Amino acid sequence: MPRIVLLGPPGVGKGTQAGPLAKTLGVPHLSTGELLRAAVAGGTPLGREADVYMRAGRLVPDELVLHILTERLEEPDARPGFVLDGYPRNRSQAETLARLVPVDIVLFFELPEHALIERLTLRRSCPTCGRLYNLATLPPKVPGRCDEDGSPLLQRSDDAPEAVRTRLRTYREQTEPLLEFYRSTGQLRSIDASGTTTEVGHRLREALDRPNP
Ligand code: AMP
Repeated sequence: MPRIVLLGPPGVGKGTQAGPLAKTLGVPHLSTGELLRAAVAGGTPLGREADVYMRAGRLVPDELVLHILTERLEEPDARPGFVLDGYPRNRSQAETLARLVPVDIVLFFELPEHALIERLTLRRSCPTCGRLYNLATLPPKVPGRCDEDGSPLLQRSDDAPEAVRTRLRTYREQTEPLLEFYRSTGQLRSIDASGTTTEVGHRLREALDRPNP
């Protein structure tokens, strides 16, 4: 079973694609953002520390994220394979991941910055099941309510304009250089992340079926 990493800027649609992809492949979807948000919601000491960074749109210190990720990777369902979304986000995390588990493919999602800002500001999520919506392209059936469980939809605090600017800057400075890293290891495959969820999903499957160059 494959070990796949989804790489790309915030708002590019990694989280939207990760769930269905993981389901098709029969592996769990691991999202460091989701794991951290669960720790924040649970009020754990790690969650309280991470919360300050997350609200500001900054990266949570490596050792905290690593702690939460290794715990999750050690669970039996993640041993054979996974779709990992949100990690690594800097060079040191990429090196740590390479020591932790062998990753088969790194899928890079590409989208111009203006489209990212639009997606982030229109994004809403369900606090109960985590399902993501976009008010323009993927709206809920009943305005403001989750299709799955009817919970009132929320905007993430780090999707506010100031935090969005910081997250995009952090991405450019720390995460984007990883493209070179994974290009040099031969693990990188890029996909165009514009268009609808279905279109991107098709491109993603095509990229996974592509033989290695
Ligand atoms: P995401 O849901 O992936 O956009 O992550 C939301 C926030 O969680 C980020 O803006 C960071 O503050 C934090 N975060 C998630 N993954 C990482 C990571 N690998 N390293 C550092 N911070 C992270």
